[in-house]
This record gives sequence, structure tokens and C-alpha cells, in this order.
Amino acid sequence: MNTHQTVHSPLLIIGAGPGGYETALLAARRGIEVTLIEKGPVGGTCLNEGCIPTKAFCRHAQILDDLRESETLGIRNQNFSFDIQAVLQRKEQIVGQLRQGVESLLQNKLIRFVNGAARFEDEHTVLVGEERYSADHILIATGSVSQTLPIPGHDLPHVMTSTEILNLDCIPRHLCVIGGGVIGLEFASIFKSFGSQVTVLEYCRDILPHFDTDLAKRLKQSLGKRGIDIQTQAQVQQIEKTEDGLLRVHYLKKEKEICVEADYVLMAVGRRANIESLNLDDIGLRYAKRGIEVNEQMQTNVPHIYAIGDINGRQMLAHAATFQGIRALNHMQGLTDTLRLDIVPAAVFTHPEAATVGLTEEECKANGIPYRVHKSFFRANGKAVCLQETEGFCKLLSHKESGVLLGGHLVGPHAADLIQELTVLIQNGNSVNDLRNTIHPHPTLGEVLLDAVKEE
Ligand SMILES: Cc1cc2nc3c(=O)[nH]c(=O)nc-3n(C[C@H](O)[C@H](O)[C@H](O)COP(=O)(O)OP(=O)(O)OC[C@H]3O[C@@H](n4cnc5c(N)ncnc54)[C@H](O)[C@@H]3O)c2cc1C
Repeated sequence: MNTHQTVHSPLLIIGAGPGGYETALLAARRGIEVTLIEKGPVGGTCLNEGCIPTKAFCRHAQILDDLRESETLGIRNQNFSFDIQAVLQRKEQIVGQLRQGVESLLQNKLIRFVNGAARFEDEHTVLVGEERYSADHILIATGSVSQTLPIPGHDLPHVMTSTEILNLDCIPRHLCVIGGGVIGLEFASIFKSFGSQVTVLEYCRDILPHFDTDLAKRLKQSLGKRGIDIQTQAQVQQIEKTEDGLLRVHYLKKEKEICVEADYVLMAVGRRANIESLNLDDIGLRYAKRGIEVNEQMQTNVPHIYAIGDINGRQMLAHAATFQGIRALNHMQGLTDTLRLDIVPAAVFTHPEAATVGLTEEECKANGIPYRVHKSFFRANGKAVCLQETEGFCKLLSHKESGVLLGGHLVGPHAADLIQELTVLIQNGNSVNDLRNTIHPHPTLGEVLLDAVKEE
């Protein structure tokens, strides 16, 4: 006989990443009692092995690039060395500090934090070890894990995922990155700046397969200029260890067999929804390979169970997880909202950065939307010239008849920050004219947006 009592709360959340913990905090602010279950450290992938540690690395990469450039700015006799141990220490310090911040926020009298792995017992009950928790509503926010290609050699030493590379305590002489998506390109850019020779192998015709093709091509060009070798239409077949201890990666390109030798290989071939441990089959919750199926309210086929963030495979971005959590909570409370979950900006923190929001040109074409393209270039932007960061462009798409802005795509300095202005414009249904009539300070990078829509 089970002697453990069931602990009941109105809301139970599984997973304390940016989806789960942000929703728990919002629920508490609204006066709702929450049980939040997390099997690892709070903050999820984003804080512990995703967004934050990579962006900590980006800062080191940026300074190294600046130092290398400094001769051209008349700063001579630069004599610097680079200590990867210091990079790892700083990353740990940043992650630790932010994690502490989240932990203290979660010390709220309405939040019951439970450390352990949750699995469903029935539609309203979750088990953590022997402990039993029930709730009126349950929110699944268990995120995703790295995938690997099931090819021979995928498990050889020095073949890493993004999790391991964040703890690598040396700088590879030659890093081969399998996968030209966001994560693969960010590490390619970082390690190029750290001093590695870098090769990227991407299966598709272009890098960043779901981005605007112009953006992808331009970023590929810019990264190529920095010396990153990017091979597209490269179908990786196997990895083998050579006699001198290197990794030889074999790939097919246009039916030709080619190989590249590297001392480390990063597999960045996508992420898989973290479904396995939850026991979903027993409660009849529908899911597919991509993740748990949800409607626009983030509701699963079991109406009181919701799924947000990477686990539903819609948009694998931290801010998408957070905002989907707001939508789910609103729906549980019978509140309607005006959140536009279809307008989610995304950034690629390479050097130069890239960012995107709204429709791509390919999507306009596929949906028969009449559109106009507006372009401008950072090489004509005064601030970018002063920064010596002239690589990149701005591409806007507007409706051909109404002029309403449909999409924005940027490659260039601070693209990840600049995309926010376009996000607001698109979300508010603003037009090319609205942007044109908005005064921007001079000289700023934001003027690149104005330049794109100058009267002809
Ligand atoms: C290298 C890398 C860089 C990234 N950079 C960015 C970026 O710059 N910007 C961006 O927006 N996104 C970025 N992402 C993606 C971002 O990290 C994810 O989209 C985001 O973390 C998803 O949030 P989530 O809450 O859905 O899941 P997660 O953050 O993955 O959190 C899920 C949590 O659930 C817990 N969990 C899982 N199963 C159970 C269980 N059975 N019981 C209890 N707990 C469980 C996990 O331990 C985890 O803590 C990056 C990802 C990676 C890997």
C-alpha cells in the first residue's frame, strides 16, 4: 500500500527552462499556486547549455576579432594570448550567477519547487520517485535534447554535441561542424575566432534551411570571407579515426566522395523533443516525432494538459517557449490575448550576426502573396563604417498593394538587436510609409532600415 499522500495544486509544471519557470513565476504573480518539477538545474537548456553559455563565448570571440583588427585602426604591437580555461571559468560564473537569480525568484510562497524527474501516472497525476502530485492543469515544458546522426563513428571520442563543446578545455586545431543550422554556425563562428580552422558540412542546398534564402547566402558569403569553409549539399556518411589520431569525416557531394580531417567534430544536426521519460502513451497524449501535438492555445488532445517550448517542436527558441507559456496560462484562466505567436524574431549570433522576423521571400511566393523587396547595405551606413563592420545587408518585404511590412531579414552588426524594431512594426501592421516617417537618430545602425525604404 502506498503511504505517500498526493499533493494537489491548481497548476503543475514539468520542466524549469524558460518555458516552465517563466510560466510558474507569472502564475504566482497572478496568485495561482504552482508545483514546478525539474530534474536538473533550473534554467533549462537555455541557461545551462544553450543561449547563455554560447553568448558568453561570443563575447570572447568578438574581443579576439577586434584585437586582430586593431592593427588596421593604428593600435600596434598587440601582444595577446588566449586562455580557454578563463573562458570556461567566466562561462560558469555567468551561468551560476543567473541560475542563482532564477532560484531566488522561485522562492515564492506560491511555488512548490520539486527536484526530480516527473512521469505521468494518470491524466491528473504525476510521480516523482515515490511522491505523487496532482493538479487541475498540467503544463509540460520538458524541452529538447541534442540529436546525433546514426552514422558509423558518431560515438568516437572527440565527436561532440553542443553540450560537450561548451566544456572543451582546448582549442581544436581543426573543428569540423556537421550541420549548418543556427547552433552549428554559432559554434563555427566562435571557434574560428578562437583560432581553429573550421569546416561546416550542411546537407541542404543552403545553410539555415528555414531562413530567407538571400539571408542564408549572404551569411555564408560573410563567414566564408572570414575563412570558414562551408560545404553545402554535403551528405555525411561516416567518421573514422586515422592512424595519427585524427577524425576523418567522409561525405558525399554531388555523388563525389570527399573527406575532411579534423581533431574534433561537432554534431549540430538538430534537437529532439524530450518526450521519452514522461510516460505519455499511458495517458493517451498525442505526439509525433517533432514533439507533442498542440493547438494554438498550446493545449494537447487531453484538454487540461498543455505543452510549450521545444517539447512541441514549433519554434525551438527560448522566447518562443516563454510566450507560449503566457498563452497557455491565459487559456487555462479563460483569458484571451493578442499575442502574435506567428511573429517570433530569431537571431544567429555569428560574426556578423543575422536575424529574421516575419515572412521570407520564399513564403510570400509559396502563399501567392504579392510583395516588394526593399534592400540596403551596411557598407553605406555611417555608423557601420565607423565601427569597421560593413559586412551585411537589410532586406525588407512589404505587401505590393498596401505597403504593409511582411518580413525583415538582416545580416550585419547588431542584427539581433535591430530586428526588434522590425518585430514591433510587423506586429502592429505598420507599412513601409510608417517606417519611412519614423525619425531615427544619426549616426546609428538602425538607419539601415530607413535606407531600405527611401522614396525612389
Ligand atoms: C547551444 C544552444 C544555443 C542556443 N541559443 C539560443 C539563443 O541564443 N536564443 C534562443 O532563443 N534559443 C537558443 N537556444 C534554444 C533554447 O535553449 C531553447 O529553445 C529553450 O531552452 C527551450 O526552452 P524550454 O523551456 O522549452 O526547454 P528547456 O530549456 O530545454 O528546459 C526543459 C527543462 O525540463 C527538464 N526536464 C526534462 N524532462 C523532465 C522530467 N521528466 N521531469 C522534470 N524535468 C524535466 C530539463 O532538465 C530542462 O531543465 C539554444 C540551444 C542550444 C542547445
